[in-house]
Amino acid sequence: MESIKNKVAFITGGSRGIGQEIVRKLSLEGANVAFTYSNSENEANQLASELSDGQVTVIALKADNADEISIRDAIDKAFEIFGSLDILVNNAGVAINALLPDVKIDDFDRMVGVNIRGVFVATQAAAAVMNDGGRIINIGSAAAERTIFPGGAVYAMTKAAVAGLTRGLARDLASRGITVNTVQPGPIETEMNPADSQFADIIRGFVAMGQYGTKSDIAELVAFLANPSSKYITGASINIDGGLVC
Ligand code: NDP
Repeated sequence: MESIKNKVAFITGGSRGIGQEIVRKLSLEGANVAFTYSNSENEANQLASELSDGQVTVIALKADNADEISIRDAIDKAFEIFGSLDILVNNAGVAINALLPDVKIDDFDRMVGVNIRGVFVATQAAAAVMNDGGRIINIGSAAAERTIFPGGAVYAMTKAAVAGLTRGLARDLASRGITVNTVQPGPIETEMNPADSQFADIIRGFVAMGQYGTKSDIAELVAFLANPSSKYITGASINIDGGLVC
């Protein structure tokens, strides 16, 4: 397998959860990384200083994924610092579940803003400066293909939109050798989806393997898709869900 050593990656929502694990994995594989956060400033700064070890540089940038200007500024800043961009991981996401009569339009707009609009804006800004042969990896959700509970319709819609965007953008960017793929996790233990919540056992019941996945399961697949050797995979939405969808 080839290597991502000395490549430059930009990851949205890297302060906690799956995004944090992706920051760790890509930096351990030798990439310089810029990542965003919206609220978790301490965690973000700690992660950046822990991983910046002289071999690689990791920087944390505050940027709300629903705010077009702050995303564009963060990508410009990362490009200014590293002088190059090879990998974009659109990981930042929010899930606000409610049954149809209770969905607040502000929450609908927030999910669309962070989970769809932010993915588009980051991709447009990153693609403008990305090296040929680059990699764009979106973190979607198995919820795009199977909604197991009532109350997840809007979230599922946002993740299905990401899968559609992925297919179209794969065509737009193929001539530059840039691949665009979506990783669709099933239940992964994070603050968004604690494995000891009141719903966790019900969720496990829908998973063929009967258990939650780990952040590192997702980071491993992202690292594979980020690698130059994955160059013929594009436009794909890949479930990594212990058999939730099957
Ligand atoms: P967490 O809530 O544990 O972490 C979310 C991360 O995203 C944090 O670093 C958070 O930063 C950041 N973030 C949230 N909103 C914004 C924003 N507006 N702007 C910038 N950063 C933001 O979630 P997970 O790690 O579980 O989820 C990561 C991705 O994986 C999401 O896209 C989610 O939809 C998807 N996913 C998760 C699954 C799961 O079971 N956990 C299953 C399927 C998909 P901060 O704290 O600074 O706000």
